[in-house]
Amino acid sequence: MLIKTANFVMSNSDVAKCPQEPIPEYAFIGRSNVGKSSLINMLTDHKGLAKTSGKPGKTQLINHFKINDNWFLVDLPGYGYAKVSKRDKKTFQKYITNYFLQRGQLVCSFVLVDIRHEPQKIDLEFMEWLGENQIPFCIIFTKADKLKPRAIQINVESYIQELLNGVWQEAPRYFVTSSTNGSGREEVLSFIGTINAD
Ligand code: GDP
Repeated sequence: MLIKTANFVMSNSDVAKCPQEPIPEYAFIGRSNVGKSSLINMLTDHKGLAKTSGKPGKTQLINHFKINDNWFLVDLPGYGYAKVSKRDKKTFQKYITNYFLQRGQLVCSFVLVDIRHEPQKIDLEFMEWLGENQIPFCIIFTKADKLKPRAIQINVESYIQELLNGVWQEAPRYFVTSSTNGSGREEVLSFIGTINAD
């Protein structure tokens, strides 16, 4: 998919106030510092589109970007940042939960995980919750440039195996990406393009 335009539309914390235009939507979510903003900028080829995090956990909003005038890319807040207060965590959970359960035009979510790390409880639980609620998602492994090809393969395989050893009977679709060298960009964009073409 060629990215012709990528424009910020709005930020808010209430799913009811998200844009009403009925076009397909794809959401990106993951732990703070996983590389979500960098990935969004890389995918859209717009350096400053998503703010890369100076302060992890600070951007607690649902951010809508309109791509090519025919789909929304949604940047959701990073989760799992230790310094956010309990009350803030609850508020966060509530509106993110509402977003996933109520956003009818959400086609697929991308759950980002750092390719260097073992599966983290918070990510596994989040994916389980998506599954229980029948919300389609893919995994995006980030920062692949930090590992050699063999290590990438080993880490991805053991991550997927851990999912299959848990609640999953089938592995979710996944992508291996690097915002530093652009790997995985075409794969993610053509996946989005293919679904949009249906
Ligand atoms: P966010 O908090 O998930 O939005 O993460 P950011 O995009 O702000 O990235 C967090 C840190 O990881 C920053 O220091 C980035 O430069 C770095 N980073 C993000 N993506 C990559 C990547 O693909 N490769 C490498 N080597 N570093 C990355």
